[in-house]
Amino acid sequence: MSVIRGWCPTAHRPMEAGDGLIVRVRPRLARVTRTQVLGLCAAAASYGNGHIDLTNRANLQIRGVPESQWPALIERLCALELVDPDPALEARHAVLVAPDWRAGDDTHRIATELAARLAEFPDLPGKFGFAIDTDAAPVLQDDPADIRLERDVTGGVILRADGRARGVSIPVDDAVSALLALAEWFVASGGRAAGRIARHAAALPAWADQDALPAPAGPPLGDTGSTLGPVHGVAFGRIEADALAALMTPSATGLRVTPWRRLIVEGGAPSPRSEPPGLDVDACVGAPSCPQATVETRTLACRLAPHVEGRLHVSGCAKGCARARPADVVLTGRDSLFDVAFDARADAVPELVGLDAAHILAHFGAS
Ligand code: SF4
Repeated sequence: MSVIRGWCPTAHRPMEAGDGLIVRVRPRLARVTRTQVLGLCAAAASYGNGHIDLTNRANLQIRGVPESQWPALIERLCALELVDPDPALEARHAVLVAPDWRAGDDTHRIATELAARLAEFPDLPGKFGFAIDTDAAPVLQDDPADIRLERDVTGGVILRADGRARGVSIPVDDAVSALLALAEWFVASGGRAAGRIARHAAALPAWADQDALPAPAGPPLGDTGSTLGPVHGVAFGRIEADALAALMTPSATGLRVTPWRRLIVEGGAPSPRSEPPGLDVDACVGAPSCPQATVETRTLACRLAPHVEGRLHVSGCAKGCARARPADVVLTGRDSLFDVAFDARADAVPELVGLDAAHILAHFGAS
């Protein structure tokens, strides 16, 4: 039986996994400086299992931290200014930022103001978050956030509640205040019980319930690259700390962290595009790292991916940590075997049940 938790781990509130604690760092403005990258890599090697995970909320995680080492790790992360020493403030940094921003543009200005005003926000549920996505075209529309600031079809900035097709036009200078007002409405109208704004049944306040249409999504970073520096793909979102540190070539000034398993090496030396297998396949860590898993996930995912049409999700259990949305093919581990569903989430009622890896491979013509 999987355990569904309504919160995400933070550095101050780590989650226990089979291989130790998971300690999450939330890069401010989707950016980590060169010094912070090198310090984080050293910390992952000293206190964790030597890997760093890149999450679908553009966070960086150190895994495998023994409880006895956690206080020293927190101290190191606070010294690097990767974590706020105040746990309450750290918990509020649930902000996705379009990673390709430039100094002084709207995304940079809004995200900077929001970071400075987070203490004004009410206490929000653990998975509640914001997206600042005001480049020329939105790029975060498929990524998890409850309240979004993005471009509309006329080029203006709109505020939009997740789950609603339209939003309200907002002057850029008022954007953070509007975000705060909608977050306050969410709490005052009983939204905490629903957890997420898309599940909150109350009608939006009239001022936020307008008909500004978001602009069509921009092209994915994997197709366009970035003028900030080379884009480095991270298979399954996991990279060894040494490999991450090696991205900091002499000219690199830092990393931009994305929710798409890709890192932009700011100022990095030009390099061939890195798009490893496993980049567009979803598979959680599975067994033996996660205590809720009874199956290995990532080796099977790599073998199967070329034989599956569409998006593949291999999940160690029904919780579906690697992908919340439906995938074209989803394998869900249960009692050391897999159930299979199509166009579904990991917790869907399966169409095939109780297959081992060999049967799965044969079913998809991969054996
Ligand atoms: S989905 Fe995977 S990582 Fe998440 S709890 Fe289940 S087995 Fe563990």
